[in-house]
Amino acid sequence: MSGIPSVVTDPERSRLMTRVRQKGTAPELVVRGILRSLHLGYRLQARDLPGSPDIVNRRRRWAVFVHGCYWHHHTSCRRATVPKRNHEFWTAKFAANRRRDARVVRDLRRRGYRVVIVWECETAAPDVLAARLERILAHR
Ligand SMILES: [Zn+2]
Repeated sequence: MSGIPSVVTDPERSRLMTRVRQKGTAPELVVRGILRSLHLGYRLQARDLPGSPDIVNRRRRWAVFVHGCYWHHHTSCRRATVPKRNHEFWTAKFAANRRRDARVVRDLRRRGYRVVIVWECETAAPDVLAARLERILAHR
């Protein structure tokens, strides 16, 4: 976010941030490292699947999204703040993001995918996260 001049209005900033779909972010690299350590193979950025999952294994039918706590508005997370300026705009924007995320998970599950949402803040405790990923993905 630091590269974006603060003079742009919030809706403009929102549009910019929506367009910049980051890949290879620090949290995503943590998740990829964990998956490798669990010997779980994966591919990146499946654009033809709902929501373009960040990390996917089609044969085993699972998908992992690594969500930023701010943009995806992680419930009860201290990183999920709402700007005071244009508060209503941002509240609506974050609600729309969450609705879209929920729809994507539903669509993938209908296709038989196991879907894991990893929150950015979870990558601060990689051991706990590794246990969760192993529990969900390493079997079947
Ligand atoms: Zn969080």
